[in-house]
Amino acid sequence: MINEKLIKEKALELGYEDCGIINISEINDYAEKINDRIIKFPNTKNTLEKLNRFTNLNERFPWAKSIIVCVRKYGKYSIPNNLKNLIAKYYLVDGRINEQSIDFQASIEFETFLNKVGLKTATERKFGLTALRWAAFKAGLGIIRRNNFFYTEKSGSWVYLEAWLIDCDMEMKNNDNSKPCPNNCNKCIKACPTKSLHEPYSMDRSTCVSCLTTFEGWDMSKESNNHNIGNWIYGCDVCQDICPFNKNKWMENEQFPRLNELAEHISLEKIIEMDYTYLEGIISSKFFYIGKGDVYKWKTNALNAMLNNYNENYLFYIRKACNDSNEHVRNMAEWVLDKITNYVPSMTE
Ligand code: SF4
Ligand code: SF4
Repeated sequence: MINEKLIKEKALELGYEDCGIINISEINDYAEKINDRIIKFPNTKNTLEKLNRFTNLNERFPWAKSIIVCVRKYGKYSIPNNLKNLIAKYYLVDGRINEQSIDFQASIEFETFLNKVGLKTATERKFGLTALRWAAFKAGLGIIRRNNFFYTEKSGSWVYLEAWLIDCDMEMKNNDNSKPCPNNCNKCIKACPTKSLHEPYSMDRSTCVSCLTTFEGWDMSKESNNHNIGNWIYGCDVCQDICPFNKNKWMENEQFPRLNELAEHISLEKIIEMDYTYLEGIISSKFFYIGKGDVYKWKTNALNAMLNNYNENYLFYIRKACNDSNEHVRNMAEWVLDKITNYVPSMTE
């Protein structure tokens, strides 16, 4: 007969750091968090309201009784130097849909185990079926810190969260011993380049670099925070990297499948020259927050990063982008060229 203990044993055997189980109704108060955020940031109401699908799960899954939440460390992979501070680390070692990764394989094996022991399950590997951080917190697996990220005592915020709905009443809560953020710490808030994180437990999606460089931003030349985005072209790690609770938590002692090979194809210059077939195939399937139809954004983000950290070697590529097949890229490149010309006239002579 399956029970909580056997489920946890299987999760640990498959390499998960921890596992907990909560009653499905425990997630419902997440709706209050969404409402609080809407009051603070009414300009992002439409996006935030969509998160209500994560609560009242019984409306969509009337058979579901409990939620299994698993934590898995990803702060163990080697990150190629040329991709550091360019693409957020989570996306480089994202095992959610990468069939070659042991993280993905473990997830499939865990679900197969649950089904074999007679449990009906539902999950969603890309974006989760429920509010993963809130569910993990409720299961006592860790805490949510002032930068909004979920932390475990062992691995800091460098963890994947996964959740499965199951059709069985179970509960398994852990006793997390994480210390809270120190009263006087506001390092993450101070470091946020766009002030998106301007107070604890609060983040404006309309100004967060992670959102602006993926699914939210559209015209980088008109984006009021474009100069604050710095070198980032996909995601942002600033508020996690600065956090003392992440100090020495990332150990680069494993290789993520084919990451080194991919890294050889990525630099600001290479993105400008990148073939759209490659962008729509390889790049968009790994970094799925920019869909196939929007891959031009890789080039406009690269152009923005070139402007923010300009050096003369970029000029050739910016000029080349002025003849790109995509109109958004051409417009962005013209705008960047204009900025450079105005700031440093000799650069374009
Ligand atoms: S991810 Fe970057 S931009 Fe977003 S809140 Fe954190 S530091 Fe600010
Ligand atoms: S930087 Fe300080 S305030 Fe921010 S999450 Fe870390 S400990 Fe908490």
